[in-house]
Formats: sequence, structure tokens, C-alpha cells
Amino acid sequence: MEIMSETSKIGVRRVTRRDLGVALASITAMEACRRSPRQKYTGALNGFNDKVDTAAFNPMLHTRKLQESAPLRMTFRAKTRAEAEQWQRSLRAKVLELVGGFPEKRSPLQPQTLEVRDFPGYRREKFVFQSRPDLTVLGYLLAPKDAEPPYAPVIALPGHGRGVDDLVGIDRKGRDRTVKVDYQYDYAVQVVEHGMAAVAIEPIGFGCRRDPRERDGPARNGLDQFACYPWASAALLFGQTTMGWRVYDVSRTIDWIETRKELDPARVGCMGISNGGECTIWAAAIETRIRAAFASGSLNTFRDSIMSYIHCIDCYVPGILNWAEMYDVAGLTAPRAFFAESGEKDVIFPTSGSRASFERVKRIYEVFGAGALAEQEVFDGPHRFRGKRGLPFLPNISVAGISADRACPPGSREFESLLAQLRMAFDDHRPPQDFFRSKRKIKRSTCFLNKEEIGFHTSRFPVDSRLVSSSPRATSSLNWCRAGRLAS
Ligand SMILES: [Zn+2]
Repeated sequence: MEIMSETSKIGVRRVTRRDLGVALASITAMEACRRSPRQKYTGALNGFNDKVDTAAFNPMLHTRKLQESAPLRMTFRAKTRAEAEQWQRSLRAKVLELVGGFPEKRSPLQPQTLEVRDFPGYRREKFVFQSRPDLTVLGYLLAPKDAEPPYAPVIALPGHGRGVDDLVGIDRKGRDRTVKVDYQYDYAVQVVEHGMAAVAIEPIGFGCRRDPRERDGPARNGLDQFACYPWASAALLFGQTTMGWRVYDVSRTIDWIETRKELDPARVGCMGISNGGECTIWAAAIETRIRAAFASGSLNTFRDSIMSYIHCIDCYVPGILNWAEMYDVAGLTAPRAFFAESGEKDVIFPTSGSRASFERVKRIYEVFGAGALAEQEVFDGPHRFRGKRGLPFLPNISVAGISADRACPPGSREFESLLAQLRMAFDDHRPPQDFFRSKRKIKRSTCFLNKEEIGFHTSRFPVDSRLVSSSPRATSSLNWCRAGRLAS
């Protein structure tokens, strides 16, 4: 009835120019349909594909073309170590500029311990500190009970999900769990099980550092798809980036580590999966106090990952492809130790891109004479943390990373710590106990560090010595020591 009355109304109405326009459009549409009768309407180009270049309507093809001709003005081309070091200085400064820079002045940390709890095998401290005057970082320090301090601290960064709780054995309801689940598998707990201290921090925008509307809303046990967008987009309006903010928090975490007697600032590692792995790569590139980086499910090319898949906006650094690809950014870690792992079935960071990117990273390390300090594991699995080779690797790389890197300035606390460790190692012809965690599974192997390398760190030190090193992975250890020799 309603339809009938409406029709009759139209029937007596005067025909307007608008009506004529509608009628004309209908005829054109009918004509288009007649030409391709089976085609379902998908948009204004239906029926006109033979009249226009449809590829020129495709924004992805446009970005691909841009990528193919991306300037990459500062991509790695060095042939010698000296050239490579010069390249690093220039690109590191550029990368810091692109992520938005760091504040000129570091504000007081004002650290505070919120809670200390004992667990079998480790002690867990919940702490906060001020990264910036109006930004507080929350973290957990997991310190091993069966190792002697000072411990090698590994900064652990979560990927998208529930935030830092998902790294330290806390389930969705805030209860302690012992079964390692979800895609991150409590890797901070795994770090402490490997004899190092884990310093797991909440990145800005994740977990308890989310927009309260998000944090306390229905997605409180995770992230809504666009949870990061309001504040991460706002950062861009100030010429800043989420990555810059997160990297600065990592840098401030090292400042915090330096205030803790039980942690060794000369052996700082950094690790994470997914966005946490991306952040690890950028952090290790910029912050040279990081001695070892472990990027899980993240090393790739920008082209094959965040340009080809819908990623969170917090992964994007404006302008980077004018200067460098991800392998160049990762190459800024050389010759400090670098480990990458990827699952064959990772659809977010496809392994083809991971392998290609790692090959480029490896080449950079080889120019530094430190090829063995960059390793990759590709495993059969999806986008998830594995750590099978990466975690046993960390205690070794934190040692080798120190000895291979010339950036340790004499007179610094880091230098003094290194010197003390080396002296102890060589005096006793065995490594300090805290170098490696596993006293139970030790296999022994003999490694040599050459004169120049030790001589770089100290002219006072007796250099004609053998370092007898032991580690959970003797082969790996041997490789590192060789790498250390090569790196000098
Ligand atoms: Zn995000």
C-alpha cells in the first residue's frame, strides 16, 4: 500500500531537471549493464574498464612504483670497515631525525618499586620510572635466583596484544600462570630461565599505557584494531613517531638499568616480537648501549611487510624509504650482535622478505668483519615467538657484542665493567660465572680473543692469554669468540 501511494504521488508530480538527470544516469547504467550483463556492480568504473587505464586507479600499484624507485639515498654501499663506520654515523643521525628525535634534556627518572614477589627460580619486581615529565613507564624486572649478580639485562618488548603482562607470566585475569601460551610465550620468563635478567617494559599505547577508553573498554584484554590510531596519528602531526617514542623509552630503560647495582649496563640486550621486534631493530640502531638485539617475527623489508599488509600505524616512520630500507636500519647494529627469527608461515612478515633482508644485514656485518655476529633462524611455524636458538644465543652475544664493538668509550662505566670482566676472565683462565647462566649444562670449549681486540679495550691488560669459555652452546660460543677476533 505504501508503495502504491508513493508511486501515485510521483505520477502526478512535475518532472524536474533532477528527475531527467536520474533518468539519464539510469539509462547509462542500464547500457553499462547491457555491455557486461553478468558483472556485479562494484563501483563507478563498472563498464568503463576499456575506456580508462584501470591500473592508474590502483593506489597500491602507485606505492609499489614509488618503492621501486625509492631513493634509498643512504643504503649500505661501503666496501671497508672505515667506510661502514662513517655510513653508520650518518645514517644513525638521519634515522634519529626521522623518528622525530629525542628530547634535548633527560628528565629525572624518579624510579619507584611498586611490588616485589618471589617465584621459583626468579624474583619479580614491578617498577615505574618517568621517561618524560608526563610519561611514566611501567616494567617488570625478573632476576634469576641461580646466578650471581650483576646480571646481563635483556629489555623485553611485547608486540601488539595484551601488553607486557603477556611476557611475564600473568594471564588475562591477572593471575600467575606457568604454562607459556599465546604468541609471545612469556619470553621474559624464558630470558630469566636462561640466566639473564629480563627487564620487560610496557610500550606506550599497549597494556596499562593505553587510552583509558580503550584500556577499560571491551578490548581490555587486547587491542582494538585501531586502538593505536588516535595518539599514534597525533604524533605525526608533531613530526614525531610512535617508534621514536618507544625507542626513547628503551633508552630511558637503559638509564634506569644503570641505576641498578644488580644489573650490568655493559651487557644490555634488547628483544621483542612483531612490533616489539621492530622496536628492537630501531632501538639497537639508535641506542648503541644495546649490545645484542634479538628481533623475532619482524626483520623484513618495508616493501614486503608494512607496505604489503595492513599494519598498525605505529610501525611507520615517514620518509624512511627516501634514505634506507629495514636491512640498513638493522645494519646499524653491526658489529654488535644481532639475531633474527621468522616463522615460515608468518603472513605478516613473510619469510621471503625476512631472508632477503637478513642477507643484506649479513653483508653489512661481513664488511665489519663480524659476519658470525649476525644469525637468523627460520622455523616451521606462524607469527610467533620461538627462541630456540635466539635465547641461548643472547648470553654469548652480549659478551661478543662488547668485545666486537669499538664504541665503548674508555673511562665510561661500561668500559670499566668490561675491563673488570675481561680481567677476571683472563686472570682465572675461565669466564666469570655470571657470563653464562647454565652451570649444569656446561660444555667446554676454548676460544681465543686476539691481542688487538683486547688491546683496544685496555692497554694495561696482559693480552697474550686464552679465554676458556663455557656456555650452554659451546659451538655458538666458539663462533662468537671467532667473530670477536674477526671483528677487531
Ligand atoms: Zn599499534
